[in-house]
Amino acid sequence: MMDFTFQKRIMAETVVSKLNITDYRIKKALLRVERHLFVPQALQFRAYEDISLPIGYNQTISHPSIVAYMTSLLELEGDEKVLEIGTGSGYQAAILAELCKQVYTVEIKQGLFEKTHALLKFKLRVVNIRCYLSDGSVGLKELAPFDRIIVTCSSSEGIPESLINQLKVGGIMVIPVDEGDGGRLIVVKKLEQNRFTYEIAGEVDFVPLVKGKNNDVFTSMA
Ligand code: SAH
Repeated sequence: MMDFTFQKRIMAETVVSKLNITDYRIKKALLRVERHLFVPQALQFRAYEDISLPIGYNQTISHPSIVAYMTSLLELEGDEKVLEIGTGSGYQAAILAELCKQVYTVEIKQGLFEKTHALLKFKLRVVNIRCYLSDGSVGLKELAPFDRIIVTCSSSEGIPESLINQLKVGGIMVIPVDEGDGGRLIVVKKLEQNRFTYEIAGEVDFVPLVKGKNNDVFTSMA
């Protein structure tokens, strides 16, 4: 098996200096999570480049720098309950799990859900991530509210109301929105029950948030 320690260190250094991230814990998380385990074996040699890579099922694992950037926007302190929409490879969830108390991650594609759930639970044995197979555009009502929500696919219909409703007062949501005029990363802060701030935090390119036929959680696994 290849040893990626050196490449991983270069990647973490590059990402935090490029983004000017001063929170040392984000760098520590980048150093702890083995990104090569989240990509197909044939692409492992490129796992520590700052690029997105295909993970099958027509989906991609995001650049390490976008993962780090979106994570930094969440302002995690360690005690939060975080909802992620779009599990994909599980890499973003694994980074979050290093920095908060509990991650709930939702994936709509069954094949990816099964593969990533197996990786996180049985291979990596991450204890503070729960995986769900469901349409994340409606959130996870039975587990709401959340301190933080991160969406890693792009909404074409603005910010889904159910997600806003599932955010705690004082909470932060990071969501890419693309209404046909280019993707923008939006940071929503819920100041009071009906008072929010919205900030554009950059331009991004994510796969679309698709709508499922079924809005119920149809599978969940610890
Ligand atoms: N966070 C991922 C990258 C996201 S790729 C990582 O770290 O690798 C976007 C993912 O969102 C894809 O896996 C896609 O299937 C999923 N997705 C798209 N629409 C969704 C929806 N409505 N609910 C849940 N997941 C969705």
